[in-house]
Amino acid sequence: MLNIVLFGPPGAGKGTQSERLKEKYGLVHISTGDVFRALDPESELGKLAKSYSDKGDLVPDEITIAILEEEVKKFPNAKGVIYDGFPRTTEQAKALDSFLSSKNTSVTMMLSLVVTEDELRDRLMKRASDSGRLDDADPKIIQNRIDNYNAKTAPVAEFYAEQSKLSEIDGIGSIDEITDRLFDAVEAFKIND
Ligand code: ADP
Repeated sequence: MLNIVLFGPPGAGKGTQSERLKEKYGLVHISTGDVFRALDPESELGKLAKSYSDKGDLVPDEITIAILEEEVKKFPNAKGVIYDGFPRTTEQAKALDSFLSSKNTSVTMMLSLVVTEDELRDRLMKRASDSGRLDDADPKIIQNRIDNYNAKTAPVAEFYAEQSKLSEIDGIGSIDEITDRLFDAVEAFKIND
């Protein structure tokens, strides 16, 4: 299986690039952010997830891991998966490793999109007008998401670097340029695999 963790701060372009990778390699795209937003807003779980995401806080690991595993199980015949927005903590990364190893597979590589904070703030404010997402509209919430990323999520890259699975990609440029860089990185990994 080709299991790609697409990593990067909020606004880095993970959703857009996931669609390109999905098409090129015939993968399933799983975005935990999308899964949370698709929950029934009246359900207990939906309300709980929203109470965190609206503030720009991370949903607790236990809930997120359970939801992710359930989502992966929906695609038993997948050739591979793009994990977008997961893992976001080292606990989640460890859980993903054991979950995949129980299925006799593993994370192939982490592709990490590198974008400056100024550029992220600009992109998220622009996205707010068409996404309608509460967490994109308020500069304080955006800052909280960036702060959570730096404190809790950035260390996850180290977890994969230690396994020699990390590839950093310049996330500034046109969408097509960044797609080409990602494809090159995937090919390089496949050759060395
Ligand atoms: P972003 O554009 O900030 O990367 P996402 O759509 O990936 O946004 O996620 C939106 C929100 O959903 C996050 O701010 C967080 O509250 C919640 N969320 C998504 N993935 C995770 C995760 N792996 N762990 C905890 N919370 C998550």
